[in-house]
Amino acid sequence: MKKHNFSAGPCILPQEVLLKASEAVMDFNNDGLSLLEISHRSKPFVDVMEKARTLALELLGLEGKGFKALFLQGGASTQFLMVALNLLEKRAGYLNTGTWSDKAIKEARIFDDVYEVASSKAANYNYIPKGYDIPSDYDYFHCTSNNTIFGTQMKSFPTCDIPMVCDMSSDIFSRVLDFSKFDLIYAGAQKNMGPAGTTLVVIKEDILGKVSRKIPSMMDYKVHIEKGSMFNTPPVFAVYVSMLTLEWLKNLGGIKAIEEINEMKARVMYSEIDLNPLFKGFSVKEDRSNMNATFTLANDNLKETFETMLKEAGINGLNGHRSVGGYRASMYNALPLDSVKALVEVMSELETKA
Ligand code: PLP
Repeated sequence: MKKHNFSAGPCILPQEVLLKASEAVMDFNNDGLSLLEISHRSKPFVDVMEKARTLALELLGLEGKGFKALFLQGGASTQFLMVALNLLEKRAGYLNTGTWSDKAIKEARIFDDVYEVASSKAANYNYIPKGYDIPSDYDYFHCTSNNTIFGTQMKSFPTCDIPMVCDMSSDIFSRVLDFSKFDLIYAGAQKNMGPAGTTLVVIKEDILGKVSRKIPSMMDYKVHIEKGSMFNTPPVFAVYVSMLTLEWLKNLGGIKAIEEINEMKARVMYSEIDLNPLFKGFSVKEDRSNMNATFTLANDNLKETFETMLKEAGINGLNGHRSVGGYRASMYNALPLDSVKALVEVMSELETKA
């Protein structure tokens, strides 16, 4: 039976990417050696790394604009502290829109002063705060473009005079934005790029070198830039699969093309949530995420029936995060519109049974 994978991450990847990745595990370069066995310094892998870095900048429209792309390890969680280590001298401003922002704040506070410019914590993060000030004497402003757990997404970004850092882990490459507004973007691979194990960091070089502390080499963006993202042995498989996914996206027509599909999926999903009286959306409408739709059942007595129906329809990974409850339909780039239609069909069928 066809499976519909709504997991929040690690999540669905394009079939053709999975196929090419599995071939490379068996024989990468038609010479009987696996991608996992060859030297990361060999030309075939150096080419993969270069291609992945170039494709990332190209898709984001950042080529030739002073940005460098890196594929690092340690997940987005390591970026919470690496950002602060490299950029925080006195004080930084953070927008607190969810669990991941909160964790980023906690890590940055280890190094220096962090001020929450605004927070939606008191409302269990069901909206994105707006109309806050970002002091121009801060070292940087940090935000999270998409809140994976709560299903909210920043639809616009503030204009600020200081470097803007953004955690785009759960919506990178999913929608058209002016990416040049950001000075540092980071994203764990495991939503819209590839397997867990690598994190894309896109950084404007001229924001570096301004803090007085000594930075350990592994944590220093400058070191990774200088070494072409090969300071230590890179996670070859995760980088290769990310490269394949970026290639897939480019062939599809880039971010513009996937944005149209993502908008269509979100429209189909949210209209069912809004029209079907058995379901209730979690986040406020204007801030709803096109990547993660969060909702609950209006009547808990239907839980068992609904979940049996989901299982029968091959729908997987729909459980909501414990801090929200209910359900979360993650609709990342590789999720086909047909999967959303299959879910919506089950939801409307439940209405006929209720
Ligand atoms: N930031 C966001 C927005 C996330 O969704 C996640 C994980 O889901 C993280 C950060 C943490 O990423 P990692 O597990 O790669 O450290």
